[in-house]
Amino acid sequence: MNPATDIQNRELPTSIRLLQDLRKLMAGSCNGQDCLNKVVRLIARNMNTDVCSVYFVRSDKILELSATEGLKREAVHKATLPIGSGLVGLIAENARVINTDNAPLTKGYQYLPETGEEIFTSFVGVPIQRLGRVLGVLVVQNKTSRLYTPVEVDTLETVAMVLAEISSTGRLTRQEITGEDLKQQTILRGTVATEGIAIGTIVLHEPKIEVLNPIADDIQYEQNRLEIAMGAVRQNIDYLIGTASRLNKKGEHHDVLETFRMFAHDDGWMRRLKEAIDSGLSAEAAVEKVQSQIRARLARIPDAYLRERLSDMDDLANRLLRELTGQNKLNSGDLPDAIILVARNIGPAELLEYSRTGLKGVILKEGAAHSHAAIVARALNIPLLVQLGEIEYELDSGDPALIDGEQGLLIIHPKDDISNIYKEKLALRAQQQASLRELRDLPCITQDGVKISLLMNAGILADLPSIIESGAEGVGLYRTELQFMIRSTFPKREEQARLYRQVLEAAKGRPVTFRTLDIGADKILPYLKLHEEENPALGWRAIRVGLDRPLLMKMQFEAMLRGATGFPLRVMFPMVSEATEFIVMRDRFLKTHAELKAKEAVCTDSLEIGAMLETPSLAYAPDSFYRDVDFLSVGGNDLLQFFYAADRNNDLVAQRYTIFNAAFLRFLQTIISRAVLNNTPISFCGEAAGHPLPALLLTALGFRALSMRPAAIALVKRTLRSVTLAEVTQKVNALVQSDTANIREDFEKWVQEADIAYRLP
Ligand code: PEP
Ligand code: MG
Repeated sequence: MNPATDIQNRELPTSIRLLQDLRKLMAGSCNGQDCLNKVVRLIARNMNTDVCSVYFVRSDKILELSATEGLKREAVHKATLPIGSGLVGLIAENARVINTDNAPLTKGYQYLPETGEEIFTSFVGVPIQRLGRVLGVLVVQNKTSRLYTPVEVDTLETVAMVLAEISSTGRLTRQEITGEDLKQQTILRGTVATEGIAIGTIVLHEPKIEVLNPIADDIQYEQNRLEIAMGAVRQNIDYLIGTASRLNKKGEHHDVLETFRMFAHDDGWMRRLKEAIDSGLSAEAAVEKVQSQIRARLARIPDAYLRERLSDMDDLANRLLRELTGQNKLNSGDLPDAIILVARNIGPAELLEYSRTGLKGVILKEGAAHSHAAIVARALNIPLLVQLGEIEYELDSGDPALIDGEQGLLIIHPKDDISNIYKEKLALRAQQQASLRELRDLPCITQDGVKISLLMNAGILADLPSIIESGAEGVGLYRTELQFMIRSTFPKREEQARLYRQVLEAAKGRPVTFRTLDIGADKILPYLKLHEEENPALGWRAIRVGLDRPLLMKMQFEAMLRGATGFPLRVMFPMVSEATEFIVMRDRFLKTHAELKAKEAVCTDSLEIGAMLETPSLAYAPDSFYRDVDFLSVGGNDLLQFFYAADRNNDLVAQRYTIFNAAFLRFLQTIISRAVLNNTPISFCGEAAGHPLPALLLTALGFRALSMRPAAIALVKRTLRSVTLAEVTQKVNALVQSDTANIREDFEKWVQEADIAYRLP
């Protein structure tokens, strides 16, 4: 280096000088360990410290000394600490800096004799973290007792940021650094929302963003990039807020948007980003550094709500990173053939988008077993696990994985022998399905001669071939809103009519019950204006929207009436809470029919109009209501949530209340006896109908028609054909009248003892 440049360099702030040296080092040829050795030497020299060490977290959650300048070299890859132990372990656990002028006297200190560190009194360690995930710890130490200045700590954090980036993008592979096999098998446990087995490749719904240039070449240029990207993010958020009235403004979406707006326009945030760039980072590395600091601060706040907002802020930082790097969601061309989709959460419409790809299974970090996304997964007949809290720490797009949707396991990098076991299981399942297929054309009649109608739930075009293949006697619930949800504009009347006709044709004479639009709560149409609501599940949804938007419903009625020309048409209205709502809607439907007839339009004349019984109030509607409807379909998913006041989208509460709770069963008995008294045909179309034990229970209570996901029909049929219903009914009545709050255990024990076939053969 020429002397003039050297002098100039010496005048630069330490962080910039250090980063420039680091960049030069990385531009040269050095391999993982060699690079890391040089990095720690460089830091120690630039910062005038006696020691600089770097520890990386192994996949077994142990921190391993990966390189050091100043401690004993022979301790590298030997000295280890569990996360949470010693100062280094505490830094990793809490993602927090520890700065002390007397390390041995600091709470948590643990002496590692193999390193010879006892002579170094001062200590400062910072977490090496990326997107909230602690990858390791960077430490400097000195013999003389002193507290490191805030500028020194900041410099160290900046360097840690760069280390995080280069170790995440393969420049320094952690496998090289820690010598461990990162491709080792990891098993995570979650809650089963939909059963099944899937083998495939992980696709992150929101892929991690790779920062390829953590160090600024030109600080002003990076500042300009940040300004432009921030401008674009702000514009995008303002646009979202401007159109938010079309969306469900309260609740999570609203909070996210409000947080975005608050942060996007927060001067403090922008100032800190600019300062991070001034310290020598590229714009994207600056975003990550500041986000890591925000995370560390917020994670310590006891207020759960504020900690929750952290993920919203992560979303915002991700938007900015996406803008800066130009990296976006994977487009379908990049997707592997067999996809295991991983997301924090996902809406039903987004999941439906993936149904056009080779989707084999879904993993949700949050999610709920009774959500509409779960229903879509069931319709697609793919396994879904929810509530896998630890997930993001363990996997990446491209990782091979498998889902055991019986035990609720996600296995990443499965070992060959495990993979083979599951491949065999898949083959066995295919065989079982084939043997169940033999039941397809057999009637569902119990041993004592009771005929049960098994129908299927449908809603997407992919369902249509299943009407015949599953052996369903018809479609008991056609969720018309699903087709509306995967579009960006409202489908025209003719288009809707074509769709309904397609469904009826695919059913080849079997009855199809179309449910009119059931939107609201978690089913949002991006192009339909919804109101701001505190509790959308209890709000303006389903028939309530229909009653207030007569033209919207008229269009759907016309489409149904025209589409069904030549076929009988069965229509039902969702979420009816009062008899009058049904009457008003039915009269409008009949009026639309009369108008079409007056215009001599071609349409169907065979009409049956029913209601879904999804709210407890409707169970107690007057007898006249039971006689006015042509049929009733019990929507057990919503009915259960309203009966127990337990949000079906919240697994914390939804899991507690199941169809096996005796109070709910007694309630269903009341509904059935009222239907019987009034000669009202009644069926059950909640998700429970698609599982043999609950299906048996429902039949014993008196339901003679069950509608379920198509893949469950054969199994339920096998169970029902094997039982003497009178015996099951007697047992169920006894259990329901006993003091047991939840009869599942007792009922299952009895079913096993009675040798009833309720599991796959
Ligand atoms: C129900 O609530 O049980 C039902 C079938 O409707 P959805 O799940 O679509 O709300
Ligand atoms: Mg419902």
